[in-house]
Amino acid sequence: MSYQDEVLDRIFMITERVIVFDGLDDIFSHIVRTSLTLTNADAITIRVFNIETGFLEIAHSAGVTESFVNQPAIRVGEGIIGNTVLESKPFSTSDTTQEVLCKNSDLAKAEGIKAMMCVPMNSKESTLGCITVYRKTNKEFAEHDLMLLSIFSAEAVEAIEKARLITELKKQATTDPLTGLFNKRAIIEKLQSEIDRSKRHKQSTAILFIDIDNFKTYNDSDGHLMGDKLLHDFTALLHKHCRTEDILGRFGGDEFIVIAPQSSLSGATSLAEKLCREVEKHDFISSNINRPFNTTCSIGIALYPEQSDNYEELMDKADKALFISKRSGRNRATVWQEATDNTAGV
Ligand code: GH3
Ligand code: MG
Repeated sequence: MSYQDEVLDRIFMITERVIVFDGLDDIFSHIVRTSLTLTNADAITIRVFNIETGFLEIAHSAGVTESFVNQPAIRVGEGIIGNTVLESKPFSTSDTTQEVLCKNSDLAKAEGIKAMMCVPMNSKESTLGCITVYRKTNKEFAEHDLMLLSIFSAEAVEAIEKARLITELKKQATTDPLTGLFNKRAIIEKLQSEIDRSKRHKQSTAILFIDIDNFKTYNDSDGHLMGDKLLHDFTALLHKHCRTEDILGRFGGDEFIVIAPQSSLSGATSLAEKLCREVEKHDFISSNINRPFNTTCSIGIALYPEQSDNYEELMDKADKALFISKRSGRNRATVWQEATDNTAGV
């Protein structure tokens, strides 16, 4: 292949639509493969800025050892890569170990790294991170390698941002924005799949319908905003007292649902009673600094497979049991029974 053909080939590779890939992992694998081929490099690391930790962390790599990958994450402005990100300018050298900016030349030596080229991943607003390619020889990366990788980096950034946006939108579609719990649609889907899973594994599952007592009063006295705060803090209490495997959702208003996989009648009842106790003794913040707000909640319980093997019927039964809890004085849990239907006036 002539030099010209080779360059054309590489340009074609860049223009391949990265966005058709399936999820972030797939995109990063593609960036790794393409960057290596584009620049004839022996190894690569892709570092991405993690907003939680504030460090540039290796998201993907190839051709480097595990100890190289496990090196401490670096700060923006630290070493060659940190500076590339800070200044948002590419960098290239024929011998990494001789660079004053190189922070860990021993690590580079142990890895046999010589030539190195870093290209920032710039988005419109900021820098996402950095693509760094390495050679284990002193053959410095050429000007056209830098150009190709820079053009490809822009494509890669677009793909990463789109994938992140899709993930965010998917999350929003299934999440209740106030509490961060699954919304009604998502929790019903979870219940369906939990019942299917329980059928396959011949296990039991309990569902708890929970409704805050006299929530309207609080909304009326302290305002809608404080009502939101109570719903938020009530959610934190649920998280605190449910098991990690329990699945929590907000049905709407002040109504919540807990799916408790592998729970027997006694397990579900003791969870419900514990929740009632914990809510009752909790001091919720109120608009009056000297007077916390105290409330209670009512719960209805239905069990798979004892009471139904159908998710809609189970929800209906939990709802009726909740109604009985309300009608018999609130602040209590009721397990659905045959008699519940009659008492609930159905
Ligand atoms: P009960 O003991 O019978 O459950 O009485 P309640 O006062 O709690 O009445 P109910 O559960 O029927 O009313 C729920 C109230 O929740 C009605 C509505 O104004 C309020 N609400 C619904 N969604 C929101 C919300 O997102 N934020 C706030 N602050 N209030 C909400
Ligand atoms: Mg209520």
